[in-house]
Amino acid sequence: MRAGAVVLATGGYGANRAMLAEFNPEIAAQDERWSFYFGSQTSRGDGIAMARGVGAAVFGKGRLMVNASPGFSRDVADFHPPWLVFVNRDGQRFMDETWPYCIAGHRIEEQPGRLCFAIFDEPTRAGSPSRHPFADKLGVGDFAYSGDRLAEEAAKGRVLTADTLEELALKAGIDPVGLVGSVAAYNADVREGGDRQFFKTGALTTIQTAPFYAAEVHAASFGATSAGLRIDPDARVLGLDAHPIDGLYAAGETAGGVLGERYVGGGNYISNALIFGRIAGQGAAAFARG
Ligand SMILES: Cc1cc2nc3c(=O)[nH]c(=O)nc-3n(C[C@H](O)[C@H](O)[C@H](O)COP(=O)(O)OP(=O)(O)OC[C@H]3O[C@@H](n4cnc5c(N)ncnc54)[C@H](O)[C@@H]3O)c2cc1C
Repeated sequence: MRAGAVVLATGGYGANRAMLAEFNPEIAAQDERWSFYFGSQTSRGDGIAMARGVGAAVFGKGRLMVNASPGFSRDVADFHPPWLVFVNRDGQRFMDETWPYCIAGHRIEEQPGRLCFAIFDEPTRAGSPSRHPFADKLGVGDFAYSGDRLAEEAAKGRVLTADTLEELALKAGIDPVGLVGSVAAYNADVREGGDRQFFKTGALTTIQTAPFYAAEVHAASFGATSAGLRIDPDARVLGLDAHPIDGLYAAGETAGGVLGERYVGGGNYISNALIFGRIAGQGAAAFARG
């Protein structure tokens, strides 16, 4: 059977580890405890593979909006409570820990070795509620940072514990001088009523009572992919020679690069799928009519 034109809209390649390794090698190289896809298993990049078979070009390699997770489960865990303190392996803070997921993931992956550690102490762990304080509003279920969950993960060794911050730093591979200094500065800020480094707001607590905890957080999980078929503004798929392949259109995650270097906020992916889906459909219908 032959069609007058074809629109490829089979989604992205999140569930295809081989394609992930080709387009986002630094994400695929991370441990699957943190580097996992939380979308549909049908996102196998079939449309991308089909079009490459007839000479289509791919655009947007290396791009991906990554979500941060402590890797306890495959639930989305990047609505971070304000009492967490993130440091990099130099022991330095680098963000307001409550920044939205679309900024936080990129900020974390900019750190040396892409490493981030969430630091807290025993009273803060023990006082963390079983559900995220804004669970209903955010629509999140399992709360990775509940007191009980953190105790369970510490017992499994997936959250590190120590009686001093220096010892914690050495266990985690963090610079001890940096960690001790950053915590002292943060505690002083909290006692004086605010975070003077990043202006974080919310229920801030000091880190001063043993045992101290460090959870390794990676920005490597994702629900959508960004590389895909190179298209022009009319959603026509371009070949390796940069010319449109006759009658072939792509939209949504099957097309690549539309979002640019960064996901700038909620709705970017959906609007890409809707807008280019409409453009591709109109173009394909016109092409088929001749
Ligand atoms: C948990 C989660 C939360 C998200 N939140 C947001 C958000 O808040 N804002 C936002 O903008 N985006 C969000 N996204 C991303 C957004 O949902 C997707 O980018 C968007 O739905 C992609 O649309 P699409 O049409 O390209 O692909 P899809 O919606 O994946 O549709 C592709 C379809 O093609 C089918 N298919 C695949 N292969 C074949 C084949 N070989 N033959 C026939 N059919 C095939 C699939 O079964 C599927 O039905 C989220 C994604 C997830 C997973």
